[in-house]
Amino acid sequence: MNRHNEMEVSFLSVPENEAFARVVIAAFAVQLSPTVSEIADVKTAVSEAVTNAIVHGYEGTRGLVTMRAIIDGKALAIEVSDRGKGITNVKQAMEPFFTTHPEQERSGMGFAVMQTFMDEVEVQSAPGSGTSVRMRKRIGAEGVH
Ligand code: ATP
Ligand code: MG
Repeated sequence: MNRHNEMEVSFLSVPENEAFARVVIAAFAVQLSPTVSEIADVKTAVSEAVTNAIVHGYEGTRGLVTMRAIIDGKALAIEVSDRGKGITNVKQAMEPFFTTHPEQERSGMGFAVMQTFMDEVEVQSAPGSGTSVRMRKRIGAEGVH
């Protein structure tokens, strides 16, 4: 039997909801019996994507961030999306150390962190209509289950 489950949650783009999103994804992923390190990886990647939606997507204005997750077998797929300002050059935005906000002491490492901790990261964005970050990670790939 192939395990399958889905969830979706939307929340306002306030900084308090970074911690909320981390807890939600951890609670959902627990059914895959992840290791402590796998759960930490997923929470870190979600944090980066949600922070980006809040600080860049909505830039101080308030809007909804949606997080969807799908479990398909041992794979966990997560999508974090906003309806904010969007990204003009996605390829450039994903380069390590690229940031449009160096004055806020941003290091430009958010996407690099997501790519390090997840198996796949895909970004779709359109200026003026928002950004969607899709990430996948196979849980239990180390053969501990
Ligand atoms: P750090 O994550 O290290 O604090 P950062 O957020 O600038 O710095 P990344 O997370 O790698 O670095 O993002 C790179 C750039 O991509 C951002 O500076 C921003 O211009 C753009 N960006 C990322 N996510 C979004 C988003 N959801 N909406 C609009 N722009 C975004
Ligand atoms: Mg970032």
